[in-house]
Amino acid sequence: MTEVDSVVAHGAHDLRVQRTELPMMSASEVEVAPAVGGICGSDLHYFHDGGVGDFTIREPLVLGHEIAGTVTRIGGDVIGLPVGTRVAIDPSRPCGTCESCRRGERNLCTDGRFLGSAARTPHVQGGFRRRIVVGAAQCVALPDDLNFADAVFAEPLAVAFPAVGRGGPLLGRRVLVTGAGPIGALIVLAAHRAGAAEITVTDVLDAPLAFARRLGAHATVNVAEIDGDGVIEECDVAFEASGAPAALPTCAARLRPGGRLVLVGLLPPGLVPAPGNRVVTRELDVVGSFRFVGAEFRAALDALATGLDVSALLTGRFGIDDAVAAFETASRREESMKVQIVFDGS
Ligand SMILES: [Zn+2]
Ligand SMILES: [Zn+2]
Repeated sequence: MTEVDSVVAHGAHDLRVQRTELPMMSASEVEVAPAVGGICGSDLHYFHDGGVGDFTIREPLVLGHEIAGTVTRIGGDVIGLPVGTRVAIDPSRPCGTCESCRRGERNLCTDGRFLGSAARTPHVQGGFRRRIVVGAAQCVALPDDLNFADAVFAEPLAVAFPAVGRGGPLLGRRVLVTGAGPIGALIVLAAHRAGAAEITVTDVLDAPLAFARRLGAHATVNVAEIDGDGVIEECDVAFEASGAPAALPTCAARLRPGGRLVLVGLLPPGLVPAPGNRVVTRELDVVGSFRFVGAEFRAALDALATGLDVSALLTGRFGIDDAVAAFETASRREESMKVQIVFDGS
């Protein structure tokens, strides 16, 4: 068994850089040496809370699902992905056989495996490690001119694209985004591309709102300082990207009758109060958005390769040995958007 340095969450506030065993590679799998890994909001939840949404860490979990790197070994059945290929890894591996998969809705797979996730036990170990074994089908070759640092934005962008799709056509629409973290910011970018006429963004901190303005927000509101209900324009579509229960009544209050609310941020575990009567009397549509299909991941990579500029979101880079510092820095939202872990390939 090969052992490699890995970033492992053992529970809340117990993150260690330690050796973990690399699993055996099957004929349809490849081994990749990650070059860059992006720290996601869900990784931060595992770090701070020992879980995210309704998923709790029950055994040591290698974090990380935003990964790009170089293929170092290939299984016997793998074709078209030679050693040395630079790839972005689609962290999602649908089962291919459940009813959702057979319907072609692989994002809804009920038996899927997602890198660095405690959604199932045994957990699916993630990509913040010097080597990782993944299905060859999860690897998408990078165009020569797309660097690793940009390529790892494919995953959060692949979350933002279908979320925006769930909002319906946005051309000429007024949009509200609650929460200006990386996902909220990428939703702003995607909504802007989709032709939204007016994009208002809320957060409880000024720094992320400044990022949102750079990415296309027309108006921003710091709801820690002012009551948003009085100043936020009425909107057609709202995207909840903060995961804060307090954002739900704001979205419901500022949506026009018949408007649509897309829930993207994972709320705290269990039940949260919802503005039910508002949904009923205004006949609002409320939908959720969580994962993506392979085509959406590739579409996100294509967008990055053809000039979609996300570089403004990258605020920090750390070596794997400084992973704890990377997570602490990424947690300080007043100074960080996306923080990356850089592997030196050894
Ligand atoms: Zn992510
Ligand atoms: Zn499935």
